[in-house]
Amino acid sequence: MSLTDLTLADARELLARREISARELSEAHLEAIEKLNPRLNAFITVTPELALAQAEAADRAYAAGEAGPLAGLPLAIKDLFCTEGVRTTAASLMLENFVPPYESTVTARLRAAGAVFVGKTNLDEFAMGSSNMTSAFGAVANPWTRAGDAAALVPGGSSGGSAAAVAARLALGATGTDTGGSIRQPASFCGIAGMKPTYGRCSRFGIIAFASSLDQAGPMARNVEDCAILLTAMAGFDPKDSTSADRPVPDFHAACTRGVTGLRIGVPKEYAAPGMPDEIAALWQAGRDWLRAAGAELVEISLPHSEYALATYYIVAPAECSSNLARYDGVRFGRREDGADLIEMYERTRAAGFGAEVKRRILIGTYVLSAGYYDAYYLRAQKVRSLILGDFTAAFARCDAILTPTAPSAAFAQGEKMDDPVKMYLNDIYTVPASLAGLPAMSVPVGLNQEGLPLGLQVIGRPFDEETVFAVADKIEKAAGFSARPALRAGG
Ligand code: GLN
Repeated sequence: MSLTDLTLADARELLARREISARELSEAHLEAIEKLNPRLNAFITVTPELALAQAEAADRAYAAGEAGPLAGLPLAIKDLFCTEGVRTTAASLMLENFVPPYESTVTARLRAAGAVFVGKTNLDEFAMGSSNMTSAFGAVANPWTRAGDAAALVPGGSSGGSAAAVAARLALGATGTDTGGSIRQPASFCGIAGMKPTYGRCSRFGIIAFASSLDQAGPMARNVEDCAILLTAMAGFDPKDSTSADRPVPDFHAACTRGVTGLRIGVPKEYAAPGMPDEIAALWQAGRDWLRAAGAELVEISLPHSEYALATYYIVAPAECSSNLARYDGVRFGRREDGADLIEMYERTRAAGFGAEVKRRILIGTYVLSAGYYDAYYLRAQKVRSLILGDFTAAFARCDAILTPTAPSAAFAQGEKMDDPVKMYLNDIYTVPASLAGLPAMSVPVGLNQEGLPLGLQVIGRPFDEETVFAVADKIEKAAGFSARPALRAGG
């Protein structure tokens, strides 16, 4: 088997038995990136020197019997995580040449665990989007294409570069961030697994902020087990993030094989609205059947405020982004355009540095926070957000995990849905409720649609109960037996 086709868990075994070296594993991935990245554009920056230095350190650690839990494993890092000495752009012209003087906590933990960083992955600008079309560094191509049609499809977003890199076998796993679905939807579009943990589980320190009450880092990998291994290393309390949770990190890997016997799985009746494509409805049904066969009990639940989740999210997220992005003023970070006076310098810097979608969100955000409209929009959205959380709290009195589709469609063509932002925002219909409620949620690949494109199911859990989410997702994954591979990939 080719080195790039290994799972993270298998690669770790082979490294530990010293049947392969970290150096050859990294070289295989760097070669794959060199070959395929010109077509996929999954990476904004490739870091071969860093990767090889980390790989050699890992080989020495294995030789000395001191290898960390991720020693020698090649990972891709979303270019929203600050990496000390390595350019970090947020896919924006504003930060085109920004080299952070410090490391995000999540990437520092991965480094400490011995991981190898092959590069920084492309994303929607400042993580705002569902298609990677808004990156200032160009669109990302999904490694999957429709059967008999070579037209480039989007990988989803905003962690589309990470999803494409993992699916195309350019890295064994990746980091993503998820504000309203940016780990789960691209995972679904690219046929991989991705987990957004509970808000507070992973530190946000050093992750370029989009909407601070929603942003969470999480793992993306080719299966559930690999996500669990990665999250165990990424998670944990951090005094540098005041919303980080001071709780022990369980062994997520061990939780994967717990099984689902006796678990109650909630199926929200509101999600079965007309308009869901038949093939997605059929896979959702298959997911219920698999879990029932594995010993779980299915219960119908109600999440009555779900229909307001999207509207709520597209008020709260822009409001927070308009505040967070005020720091890009030409003085403190990144780009500066000259101007006759201070105000003109601000205006020209922000006009040149931000793309259209980012500007749209800043405008919406300042509008909903403005004195005249604060009560009508922002305050009301906060109230609805509480109702949405209340729906989940009530539902979790009756069930242990919730099963839904991840996204309302498979990957679409580059350029589609670009004329109407609301069409693009509709991608997030199934993912934003768990984001607003801060709950752990995972997408697991389950099948292909009629065009040969992957589709995922989403498992949502109670706060800080990622373990049950992993256990349920693992059962679904095993039952679905998803083994299809994209057309564009290394080693085949
Ligand atoms: N697609 C959503 C948005 O555009 C989610 C983005 C994200 O989770 N970062 O805001």
